[in-house]
Amino acid sequence: MSINSRRALRFTHALTRARSLATISQAAHPSSTRAPSAAEIHSNGIVRTDWSREEIRAVYDTPLLDLLFQAAKVHRAHHDPLAVQQCTLLSIKTGGCQEDCSYCPQSSKYKTPVKAAKLLEEDAVLEAARKAKEAGSTRFCMGAAWRDLNGRKTNFSTILNYVSTIRAMDMEVCATLGMLTAPQAAALKSAGLTAYNHNLDTSRDYYPTIITTRTYDERLQTIANVREAGISVCSGGIIGLGETVDDRVGLLWELATLPEHPESVPVNALLAVKGTPMENQEPVNIWEMVRMIATARIVMPSSMVRLSAGRIRFSQPEQALCFMAGANSIFTGDKLLTTPNNAYNDDQAMFNILGLTPKTANFAQGADRFIPPPPAPSKRTGGQLVIED
Ligand code: SF4
Repeated sequence: MSINSRRALRFTHALTRARSLATISQAAHPSSTRAPSAAEIHSNGIVRTDWSREEIRAVYDTPLLDLLFQAAKVHRAHHDPLAVQQCTLLSIKTGGCQEDCSYCPQSSKYKTPVKAAKLLEEDAVLEAARKAKEAGSTRFCMGAAWRDLNGRKTNFSTILNYVSTIRAMDMEVCATLGMLTAPQAAALKSAGLTAYNHNLDTSRDYYPTIITTRTYDERLQTIANVREAGISVCSGGIIGLGETVDDRVGLLWELATLPEHPESVPVNALLAVKGTPMENQEPVNIWEMVRMIATARIVMPSSMVRLSAGRIRFSQPEQALCFMAGANSIFTGDKLLTTPNNAYNDDQAMFNILGLTPKTANFAQGADRFIPPPPAPSKRTGGQLVIED
């Protein structure tokens, strides 16, 4: 074979190899020939509060694997993707609530297995906080089944003492006590509260189907009071209540267009409880949960997104998908208020398998918005703060 023939052959082989690589590359990266998805367009990680519903719906509707990938990118840009916050939630006052939230076994309107109880004694609360800390929790959240704190001066004073004592244990302290006035929020801030949970639950449109005893605007007012007091806001919702996709998008839109995004956004999947109006709801599947978490991660990039109630129904691989999608907080402990939660040992095993590490406490959150509290609490009786309403 002549030199020219050998050169021609080498050129032909090189050309064939280049064409093959181009074909393989095109097959491996089809996005190079496809318009970017809505999730990709919005995965620049910029924190915005001017989202339109259409933009959020388009992100939500992105093909699932692309949505997952884009959300994971945003997650890495704003957070350590291996650090997961562990919060422990304790019901300090269970059942007998006068509200009619149709998913809740603690409402006195429904016949459920939950029995009403008084406010837990100090020893029980502090013991639970100590155990939570030993188990690796950095945030302790206390929940009371109340509409609001009005007329509960003594109980509120007791809770303020719980907040101060647990904060002194070097734990973030969170509470969910129903609607708050501005002075009540300021008193909680003064006692050392880190965060306050008040969920919007669902979209404004679907909300009246779920709750009739308080309005959406009352919920937003409590969130505003919490924000104004310089307390970190924890607010999210529940899927699986019979809502439409537009309602899920509507919930995310409400949260993502608040003047500031909540620092924590819990995403709950309904655990239907017998006796509630929601008892026959079909369970949410993992893909709905992943889609909701990933969309929340993209539209509220700097918030903690909490994989919350309903986690017990998901396997470790399914939970891993949620962490990939941007979840970076969970509730630990055997119970979530009154419903079951994942066992502590199972969570430790999952952390080991996935290489997750517990997120350290952040006591600075909300501090820059600190506003000096009003005169109350004004006196001390028997070691307890007493609030003047
Ligand atoms: S969700 Fe809260 S406010 Fe609603 S019924 Fe249950 S305890 Fe009461």
